[in-house]
Amino acid sequence: MKLSLIIPIYNEEKNINRLHHSITQIMVNNHYDYELILVNDGSADRSIHMIEALSKKDEHVKYVSFSRNFGKESAMLAGLRSAAGDAAIILDADLQHPPELIPQFVDAYYEGYDQVVARRDRDGENIIRKIPSQLFYKLINRTVDVELVDGEGDFRLISRVVIDAILSLDEYNRFSKGIFDWVGYSKKTIPFKNVKREEGQSSFSFFSLLDYAIDGILSYNNKPLRVCFYFGAITLTICLLYILTTLIKIIYQGIDEPGYFTIISSILFLGGVQLFSLGVIGEYIGRIYYESKKRPHFIVEKTNVEKLKND
Ligand code: UDP
Ligand code: MG
Repeated sequence: MKLSLIIPIYNEEKNINRLHHSITQIMVNNHYDYELILVNDGSADRSIHMIEALSKKDEHVKYVSFSRNFGKESAMLAGLRSAAGDAAIILDADLQHPPELIPQFVDAYYEGYDQVVARRDRDGENIIRKIPSQLFYKLINRTVDVELVDGEGDFRLISRVVIDAILSLDEYNRFSKGIFDWVGYSKKTIPFKNVKREEGQSSFSFFSLLDYAIDGILSYNNKPLRVCFYFGAITLTICLLYILTTLIKIIYQGIDEPGYFTIISSILFLGGVQLFSLGVIGEYIGRIYYESKKRPHFIVEKTNVEKLKND
């Protein structure tokens, strides 16, 4: 069987050679037939020069280089489209996804699993990332149809059937954690210890993770719209009841002047509910807008992958 290792790369000049070295060692020791697909996601540093140099030295190295930064989701998609293997393994360039786990992935593949997922613990992780992440998983698993597990990320082996299933989904807003679960197939989980990034910096800030969380919630269903609907229905009922009781009071007791509090609170409350609902609807419309443009997920500047050249 042939393995396609897919690695998205954004400003990783300090990690590329180390990564190539440790992967090559594992591949050679285990006598695997493999290709290493490096996807340069518009890095601003010397990453692409290093990748090209590697591809000249090592025939296993394939690369795809984007014309600008399109994001990790697009980089993974380009990798999957380029993959010629019977199974693909996606890993980060910063060695936070230890390549030492690859033999365990392959063993599980031979046992018959179509998805082998590494699950990391959150030991030694920064509190400002840990707590919001945990809250996110609690919230998301209540709202979306797919199941997302804390600690399971893109680091996984997927077999050819899964690759093809994923490639058949052509949506523009990609949330791959959800896509992996949505396509289904048999799955095995392998736990591993969290490792710190050694060189360079994480590209994801608190706010980009917040954006990612909102994407996760909105990408999978229209439950937030349903929530707005119920919220609207409840508010309407309360308002109608209030109007009715006030009317009855006026009929029996006449009009009394004071009403500042009730007016101001109902204006503010209804205004808030309406703005919130508009925001939710707007998010969906924004998504429809992007989908309807049918733009490609990425633009390839150079590559040595035949399949992508003809695209
Ligand atoms: N990455 C990418 N495009 C981006 C941001 C990140 O291809 O716009 C790659 C990055 O080079 C790395 C992986 O995605 O291989 C994970 O990024 P990072 O380590 O910054 O994320 P974290 O580990 O903090 O989640
Ligand atoms: Mg990282």
